[in-house]
Amino acid sequence: MTTFQELGVSLETVSSLNDMGFFNPTGIQEETIPYVLSGIDVLAQAQTGSGKTGAFGIPLIERISKDGGIQALILAPTRELAQQVGEQLRLMSKNKNFKVSIIFGGTSIERQIKDIKKSPQIIVGTPGRIIDHINRKTLKLDTVTNIVLDEADEMLNMGFIDDVRFILSKVENNYQTLLFSATMPKPIMELAKQFMTDYKVVKTMSLEELNPNIEEFASLLKESEKLSALEGFLEVHNPKLAIIFGRTKKRVDELSSALSAKGYLSEGLHGDITQSKRLEILKKFKNNTIQILVATDVAARGIDISGVTHVYNFDMPQDTESYTHRIGRTGRAGNSGVAVTFLNPVEMPYLRDIESKKGERMKMLRPYTEKEINKARYSRIIDEVEQGLKKDLTNLNSLTEKLLDLDNAEKIITVLLDKIINTKTEVNIELSYERPLTRKESKNNRSRGFRRDRKDKRNNRKNSDKSRSDKKFFDKKGKRTKK
Ligand code: ADP
Ligand code: MG
Repeated sequence: MTTFQELGVSLETVSSLNDMGFFNPTGIQEETIPYVLSGIDVLAQAQTGSGKTGAFGIPLIERISKDGGIQALILAPTRELAQQVGEQLRLMSKNKNFKVSIIFGGTSIERQIKDIKKSPQIIVGTPGRIIDHINRKTLKLDTVTNIVLDEADEMLNMGFIDDVRFILSKVENNYQTLLFSATMPKPIMELAKQFMTDYKVVKTMSLEELNPNIEEFASLLKESEKLSALEGFLEVHNPKLAIIFGRTKKRVDELSSALSAKGYLSEGLHGDITQSKRLEILKKFKNNTIQILVATDVAARGIDISGVTHVYNFDMPQDTESYTHRIGRTGRAGNSGVAVTFLNPVEMPYLRDIESKKGERMKMLRPYTEKEINKARYSRIIDEVEQGLKKDLTNLNSLTEKLLDLDNAEKIITVLLDKIINTKTEVNIELSYERPLTRKESKNNRSRGFRRDRKDKRNNRKNSDKSRSDKKFFDKKGKRTKK
């Protein structure tokens, strides 16, 4: 196995990396680090979770120095990503004593100004807030020698391209450009040509090759059947950590409220959730205080969470790429994962696209029957009782005696079981109707219908984090309220 040292990384940095638990480079790091160290521009593509931050971060900190002013500028599409990248860079450069300022909107600009005055070597930020600082003249880029566009595909999707162009125009030096992306669609290649002249393209294997451990299923469901089908899957699969993807913010709100009302430990994540709340939710998810994260594509994009055992696409993703990203949240680092995609019968062409990319048919999963669900619940209760028997529960003895005074043990157990089993099923909730994806033209008359189809997809994407209908809404307790 290659070592960081063999790639030309200094001992000082290797030791910081070891402290982070990085002992050998990942595939993308092994390929990219030597190029970046030599000063060449790089366009790199690798799936989410493959270690792209290290691929640019490690060589970057080797190329800059403590007293050269702000030398590296890293642009990321969202606050979370900026935060994650910034924190990783702090750890990677720990032995070099570099200062990393993380700059994004939604928090105090004054504090950021103070932070920038402490002369960091590295700035990580979202384009909007960086531009604010440039315009206020609180951030000068005249010493910058290295620029990274992280999650470049997402920056394009989110419409940041003009912002990026503006920021780059403010850098006068000859700088090294690194463009990192999870996918490499045409617009990214064009972007690379625009911003770089001589550059290396580094690609790693496809998600499918890297992730043979994801078991993928599809389930054909009418809109009105989705919620109860989901419950059945959750009961039988009993995920340790699950992400459920919904198409709109409203959908995410309703679904996470519904799941909470049904007794699941669940939270929703989408673009309208405040920054501090988001970080709090992610933390809860990471330390297992919530079991289910309901999210829109945008909100979940690029966020690094390991240990996700199940992904449920409650709504069909817009396209194959989005599908690949979503299911890539599970089955990481050699763990196995399960991905279940719900689809409305009219969305079948979208499934066919995914299948043709995969090169195989998807396994279909029908919703579980009540009998199957109960069987799973019962066997779990038996397991839990077995575990419980090993525990010291003497503190409950007096309660036990009081209960046994009421009737015989068998009857008491049955009453308690009824309480346990039926807590999750009492609430009856209906979600608002969500329109399925726009119908695609069939393959044989594609040439005629293609353009329209593309446009529709674009519109869908634009709306993807927006609510579409507002007939009903549910409060936290799952009660239906008029909005
Ligand atoms: P990407 O940007 O490609 O989605 P990240 O850079 O966020 O991926 O890395 C994903 C996870 O892998 C992070 O938790 C990171 O700490 C870990 N990681 C990255 N490089 C290494 C390495 N060389 N050894 C061990 N873990 C690593
Ligand atoms: Mg990343």
